[in-house]
Amino acid sequence: MNSEKLSFNNTKKAFLSKNNSELNESYWLFRLMGNPFVVKIGSKLTLFALSLRLPVQGLIKRTIFKQFCGGESLKESQSVVKRLSKSHIGSILDYSVEGKSTEEDFEKTKTEVIDIIALAKGNKAIPYTSLKMSGIVRLGLLETINSLPFVPEDCQSEYKLLHSRLTEVCQASVANEVPIYIDAEESWIQGAIDQLAEEMMSHYNKEKAFIQTTLQMYRKGRIDYLKNLIQQARIKKYFIGVKLVRGAYLEKETARADRLGLTTPIQQNKEDTDREFDEAVLICLQNLDVVTLCAGTHNEASTFYLVKEMKNLNIAKDDSRIYFSQLFGMSDNITYNLADEGYNVTKYLPYGPIGAVLPYLIRRANENTAIAGQMGRELNLIARERKRRVGQHLLSSSSITPQT
Ligand SMILES: Cc1cc2nc3c(=O)[nH]c(=O)nc-3n(C[C@H](O)[C@H](O)[C@H](O)COP(=O)(O)OP(=O)(O)OC[C@H]3O[C@@H](n4cnc5c(N)ncnc54)[C@H](O)[C@@H]3O)c2cc1C
Repeated sequence: MNSEKLSFNNTKKAFLSKNNSELNESYWLFRLMGNPFVVKIGSKLTLFALSLRLPVQGLIKRTIFKQFCGGESLKESQSVVKRLSKSHIGSILDYSVEGKSTEEDFEKTKTEVIDIIALAKGNKAIPYTSLKMSGIVRLGLLETINSLPFVPEDCQSEYKLLHSRLTEVCQASVANEVPIYIDAEESWIQGAIDQLAEEMMSHYNKEKAFIQTTLQMYRKGRIDYLKNLIQQARIKKYFIGVKLVRGAYLEKETARADRLGLTTPIQQNKEDTDREFDEAVLICLQNLDVVTLCAGTHNEASTFYLVKEMKNLNIAKDDSRIYFSQLFGMSDNITYNLADEGYNVTKYLPYGPIGAVLPYLIRRANENTAIAGQMGRELNLIARERKRRVGQHLLSSSSITPQT
């Protein structure tokens, strides 16, 4: 296949790694998640059952956890890493534990990220890693810095702890030559995260973009922010890494702005988000001498746009400064077909104990329910692959149900 013919319709390639029963499991899961009522009630019941220590972990592990996570530990995730690597897809192992609040938890997260970096050293199957700032510090501290924006006297010692944890992670990233993405989070803590990410990039990226930040293009004003980042990098002579995403907290952001009577930080509509995402892609491509780009998206049009602009600008498909990335369990049609074409592709592969990754899983379920078209897309692809297998007598027709 040449790039003129790049298509995301090849479901045989997309689901090559799934046997029939895995394909059927995904089909039923996406059908269930397509129902907003099921997702809403299911999320609440699951949280309630876990809080009562009811034995629901096994069920979660066999269903939604299996779809979106690598395993409960770094070790357990290795079989997925190997499977992806066979198809030339890198893994970004993401210790996805959220909602923790003790210093002990924060230390554990830091150690875990450093363990991932050690495992990734010289390992093509794990080209990057990632860090959520809220995994190594209390949310309240980030919120305080964000609103002030400086560190008040009574928060200095806590801030020092955060800074030293972040420094340790960044130093490990540079020493082992494993770049790290700092994830973007809610707008009311993102200013503090940006500040820290910029500081680390300016300090550690003198030779290469080891430390990379994330821009959520559903936020207003991110194009100007990106241009300013690039300008600063040029003036102060360092590299920047930019992971572009649309943003995962749409409903939470809107609800909070409504509740507090604030102007929403989110773009007016989806079209504005889409347009600014693509504009940011182009700005990054035009500044590759200082920028490294990761397009974290399941949007086919944006992915095609990046492919097209790379071609226009004569940028090689495997240019080490450009990565495409999708979340594990989503848009395999994009991931596998791009990898087959020779582009640099990764999957974000979250892992962690079931109870602790639940907020991530609930976000994925909500994301798939809330976004018009997204669920249809995933479900449609799986349904088409089931039909293809039936047509080729690879799957029994009795297991096929009418498409939704
Ligand atoms: C590799 C990777 C890393 C990621 N890292 C992060 C991260 O660090 N932080 C983070 O927040 N998310 C992250 N995400 C999640 C990401 O934000 C969502 O998966 C993404 O928003 C889904 O959008 P899409 O680009 O796939 O395109 P689509 O499915 O086309 O777009 C859906 C998105 O468009 C936006 N949108 C929808 N409706 C509206 C509207 N009315 N107005 C404005 N905007 C709207 C929302 O962001 C929504 O999620 C990551 C995703 C990937 C693949």
